[in-house]
Amino acid sequence: MELRRLGRTEMKVSTVSLGGMGVISKHHKTLDDATRVIHTALDRGINLVETARGYFDSEKIIGEVMKTRRHETYLASKSYLRSSKRCEQQIIESLTNFGTKKIDLYQIHHVQYEYELEQVLGKGGAMEAIRSYQRQGLIDHVGITSHHPRILAQALETDAFDVVQFPFSVVERDHYKELEPIARRRDIGIIAMKVLSGGNLQNVSTAIKYVLSHDISTAVLGASNVEQVLADCEAADSFTQLTDEEKDQLAEEADRLPENFCRRCRYCEPVCPAEIPISDIFRVENYLILNATYARNEYRTFKANSTHCIECGECENICPYDLPVVDDLRRAHSRLNKGRLEDLAVNTLRKVRLYDVARKLYFDLGGNLPER
Ligand code: SF4
Ligand code: SF4
Repeated sequence: MELRRLGRTEMKVSTVSLGGMGVISKHHKTLDDATRVIHTALDRGINLVETARGYFDSEKIIGEVMKTRRHETYLASKSYLRSSKRCEQQIIESLTNFGTKKIDLYQIHHVQYEYELEQVLGKGGAMEAIRSYQRQGLIDHVGITSHHPRILAQALETDAFDVVQFPFSVVERDHYKELEPIARRRDIGIIAMKVLSGGNLQNVSTAIKYVLSHDISTAVLGASNVEQVLADCEAADSFTQLTDEEKDQLAEEADRLPENFCRRCRYCEPVCPAEIPISDIFRVENYLILNATYARNEYRTFKANSTHCIECGECENICPYDLPVVDDLRRAHSRLNKGRLEDLAVNTLRKVRLYDVARKLYFDLGGNLPER
């Protein structure tokens, strides 16, 4: 896989990298399933694994693989804590979880407001802990991640950061437009995230090609199974500039998406006291149009939904896209929770191989039943 220079870190990173959220144990039946995803990524030429202290047990799972493959991997993690003391605690935890003597890139995670940036860089802020670990040789480089271009622009102009990570896809281009010139001027490496816009861009190959055709170092992708890793690597390996036809396809796909939607960053989930799988609910809601039975069946496996919401508002405070999460969850519930009778009828018809016949007949009469 092509390697690109990550700004002044001088790290040569693969054009796609593996995000840690996809390997957490709740997405996998066994530890082997989870580690297989990481092994496959490394086998296929990915050399950067990027996660966060807040991504549940991802660091420990990555640490399992690092027992034998640390020498071929750059490791990155991040902390959402802003004080030196608390950030130091997270650095120690990350080092222990990874089972490594040094973290290649440590980032300040998800800075939303100016006062947070001031806290991080000010006296007693997280940067003091990071610099101290850098001096001891336990951290190599420092980065920052955010969904807010204005905050990132301010952060980059302080010259405190070697790497910046922000969302970038055909439907989210503002960050790149604003930040790339600053990054270029200061030789700061760029990591693109949310390249598939939280799974809303279905054409993986062209979505990846789109970001790789810009001046970024790597696109971090949260693959949660081997097939997804292989598809991501294939897209990176066969990278060429987009053809006009591919550009049109992407534009069409982007036009079909609503103005604002859940990008599945999952920032809201750790703060939800009701443990509602918010982003998964929005994901299966999207499936309604393709396969309503599957969507409703999957929805019924979730242990919590909008009926468990206590309306504390924490999710809406943290959502970087200012989504009306509570209302959207109610809407999703009303769409996903109905149709039990309908599902029963469709499932029975499918079993006796009549659903497709009925669908075709209905279509001939001018109607349209969903494919289920
Ligand atoms: S408002 Fe509801 S969904 Fe949002 S964090 Fe609170 S309990 Fe969870
Ligand atoms: S609702 Fe907002 S915070 Fe939660 S996963 Fe979606 S985009 Fe992220």
